[in-house]
Amino acid sequence: MTGRATPLPFEKQERMSREERAKYLDERLKWLVPYAYDRAPAIKARFDKAGIDPSKVSGIKDLENLPLLRKDDLVDLYKNNPPLGGLVTMPMEELERVYVSPGPIYDPHHQSETFWQRLVYLVKSLGFGKGDVVVNTWAYHLVPAGHMIDEALRRAGVTVIPMGVGNTELQVEVMHQLKVTGFFGTTGFFMNIITKAEEMGYDIRKDFNLKLACIGGEMGGGPIRKLVEEKYGIATRDAYGTADVGFMAYECSEKSGMHIAEEVIVEIVSYETGKPVAPGEVGEIVVTPIDETYPLIRFGTGDLASLIEEPCPCGKTALRITRILGRVGDAVRTRGMFIHPRQLEPAMAKFTQVDGYQAVVTRPGHRDELTLKVELKSEEGIDKEKLAKELNQVVSAAVRIKVDRVEFVAKGSIPEVHKLIVDERVY
Ligand SMILES: [Zn+2]
Repeated sequence: MTGRATPLPFEKQERMSREERAKYLDERLKWLVPYAYDRAPAIKARFDKAGIDPSKVSGIKDLENLPLLRKDDLVDLYKNNPPLGGLVTMPMEELERVYVSPGPIYDPHHQSETFWQRLVYLVKSLGFGKGDVVVNTWAYHLVPAGHMIDEALRRAGVTVIPMGVGNTELQVEVMHQLKVTGFFGTTGFFMNIITKAEEMGYDIRKDFNLKLACIGGEMGGGPIRKLVEEKYGIATRDAYGTADVGFMAYECSEKSGMHIAEEVIVEIVSYETGKPVAPGEVGEIVVTPIDETYPLIRFGTGDLASLIEEPCPCGKTALRITRILGRVGDAVRTRGMFIHPRQLEPAMAKFTQVDGYQAVVTRPGHRDELTLKVELKSEEGIDKEKLAKELNQVVSAAVRIKVDRVEFVAKGSIPEVHKLIVDERVY
């Protein structure tokens, strides 16, 4: 077997140059591919079908022709090849747990040290460690999230309270009485707890010890995070993972994108062609974890992000991805181009006089038309014609197709919660 069978210490990996890391990950992949091929029949079948000789794979570039492994594929594989879909490298009796995710997909509990080292390193990098008392509100039954995060936190020295979801009032009491310092869960649920605590008469700053909340898992949490930090004085961090692969990216204290975790190869591919996109372009996150138990080589997550090439001010050298910009299914194909709602966000953020906006795709004749509806904070002193021109230019450049018209609409006509881009075409 060629390639590198064991990981380097993560502290060392973190300081590698980009070139060193790319070479190192290729070495790890060279080891993983034949290992997985020999032990997981479904992986073998994928390589055989694509006509790729596993002994000839020298790096991630050699896998460009290996079709992505998708959630739907997992569902089919588990259904057709029970019990473990041919995807797991060890027999059932070696597994400590088997999880049941929607599908059903029977994700194995990860048995490899590499996997746990990665997760422990990640939660430490998020800022959790000895002395912290953390409420883990991810589900502890059926799906892997609760147990996965619990084990990573405990291994990192954290005292964990396995709360799971629900029981909002009890969550408040526990946080207060046990002087909880940290939180893991969704942004939405965190806000439910905070709101409930205030209803119960607590002052979050005075009565709670909360310092750090990892509130990933949902999109569009930006304004809420700002509120949590400014109003309640609680630092927030985002992290990214999936049930099958576990955490694979995290925010450092700079909060400018998420560092890709060690022992994970991430590609960002075009959702049109399946080929890697240019740095900075939005595409699907495709992940290959260097994992001895569950080697999901080229797993298509269905989540969209783009790579950040610039080095992080924190000094870590790993590549970063942006926060999750949406799901592949949210993209709307307009005049042959996929445009994604989240492409709009950074463009529209430049226009501080805008209160709300929505892009609408219609098809009055035989051509798709893109209308940008805009609500202004105030019409006072605004040259609408000039603003419309600017909006048109900036948004057209961001979504890469020409906006047909900018329409100023009355305040309140775009609902509070809305899709940023709607498809109103009738065929
Ligand atoms: Zn950083």
